[in-house]
Amino acid sequence: MSPSREGIEGRFDVAVIGAGVSGACIARRLSAYELRVALIEKEEDVSFGVSKANSGIVHGGFHHNKKYLKARLEVQGGMMFDRLKAELDFPFVRCGIVVAAMHDDELRGIGQLYSQGVENGAIGIEMCSRERLLELEPRLSPDCVGGLYAPGGGIIEPYRFVFSLVESARKNGVVLFTGWKLVSAAREELAWRLRSSDGRIVEASYVVNAAGLHADDVSRAFGAEDFRIQGRKGEYYLLDRLTKAKPDRVVFPVPSASSKGMLVIPTVEGTVLLGPTATSTDDKEDFATSRVELETILRSAKNLVPAISESDVITSFAGIRSVLGEDFYIDVSGKAPALIQVAGIQSPGLTASPAIGEYVKDLLKKAGLRLVEKADWDPFVDKVPRAKDLTPFELDEFVKADPAFGNIVCRCERVTEAEIVAAIRRGHTTLDGIKYFTRAQMGRCQGGFCTYRILKIIMRETGMAWDEITKRGEGSRVLGGEL
Ligand SMILES: Cc1cc2nc3c(=O)[nH]c(=O)nc-3n(C[C@H](O)[C@H](O)[C@H](O)COP(=O)(O)OP(=O)(O)OC[C@H]3O[C@@H](n4cnc5c(N)ncnc54)[C@H](O)[C@@H]3O)c2cc1C
Repeated sequence: MSPSREGIEGRFDVAVIGAGVSGACIARRLSAYELRVALIEKEEDVSFGVSKANSGIVHGGFHHNKKYLKARLEVQGGMMFDRLKAELDFPFVRCGIVVAAMHDDELRGIGQLYSQGVENGAIGIEMCSRERLLELEPRLSPDCVGGLYAPGGGIIEPYRFVFSLVESARKNGVVLFTGWKLVSAAREELAWRLRSSDGRIVEASYVVNAAGLHADDVSRAFGAEDFRIQGRKGEYYLLDRLTKAKPDRVVFPVPSASSKGMLVIPTVEGTVLLGPTATSTDDKEDFATSRVELETILRSAKNLVPAISESDVITSFAGIRSVLGEDFYIDVSGKAPALIQVAGIQSPGLTASPAIGEYVKDLLKKAGLRLVEKADWDPFVDKVPRAKDLTPFELDEFVKADPAFGNIVCRCERVTEAEIVAAIRRGHTTLDGIKYFTRAQMGRCQGGFCTYRILKIIMRETGMAWDEITKRGEGSRVLGGEL
């Protein structure tokens, strides 16, 4: 998605390092002002960091004490999703969250969550009897003894959210650089001179460090605060959409001191997600899953929803949380001038992200950035028609206008050639980028039937050779050797 691979890439008012959900929300918020903004990402596409592999929950505002910034931003951010969905057209449903106590001694924990939610301003939160809980979520185990209901909680496709945010930011003038890994920064007069691993230069008056798991390395590159981001891995099982165990709401157990526990999550696209685990890791690239952890997940999930069956499992994956103490670290650097730190954005970072955008915009103003609203800022992105959301009559009209709507490429998720082409034309040219944009390769066969057809469409649309196409950028070529 790089606009240019060579030469100096330009001079900006603000450079945001990291195109995960935090950086994307910040860049889009800044795009509403008369500013030159760069969004810089080391991977081949946006949302390829922590923001691609998480539970996809818009949290209900009761898990954290309001003394923490993350609790306050969670509640503010959570309330912003309805408007954002109307503007940005990403999958989001406010289906509500239930927390189920399975023993009487867990009911105290439910009481604490309830009080915390009320103090935080979580709308509509309710303590539930066993009967009320089972009425709200009939697939829950009949052994539950009571619990909590948070109607404000919801589910979202996290990568589609980031793609839409970035599309909106670009539409309003933000320049996106992908495959651009920041390795050093030098202050020259009143600007930062940023250098990439392949020697390219971007200059910016202000910089926001939203580099997720690598925010510690980026901070050091600026000679700023010396902190260490600890990885905490979370593994998941994904169940096919045909499962009989799909709850209507997100189901949480009563949390422990260190984790929200392992959940049963009805995804916004109709599948079911089980997990995540929580294990410390020093390897920030280790996304392997293990049989032992996955067995723990199954046991825990079946305890909440007994109908869950291992035979519905279609894949497993892992994400890594960026942990830096208990809270988010979002502040003006005390050591490096004109640098804003956005680090330690662990859960509920996805929920809080729209509020993080607001918060960082205010910090930049405090640090001296002049904000003048754009008269012509356009919050809306163009809707991409999806075959599976259309009636047969509507689809027929689309096919008449473009026969590519009549060619189903991914049968499991019912994705047409026209949708693959739309993804490529928006700059998603890796297999993973196309997968996250369209859902092709995400169904029961996990790309077994459609990968080859997608490769051919990428070659036709981009002119790339078969051995240039990658799964997710450098080091992940799909095909090699002799044909
Ligand atoms: C297992 C798990 C479950 C979670 N579940 C939820 C949930 O249900 N709800 C919720 O609200 N939150 C959840 N979270 C938290 C949420 O996913 C994160 O808070 C959020 O995605 C963090 O986004 P980010 O933009 O800060 O980081 P990232 O998404 O990691 O983005 C940082 C970006 O910076 C880039 N980068 C790094 N170094 C450089 C460099 N040198 N140069 C250029 N670019 C660089 C990276 O490639 C990356 O794309 C979960 C997290 C995990 C791991």
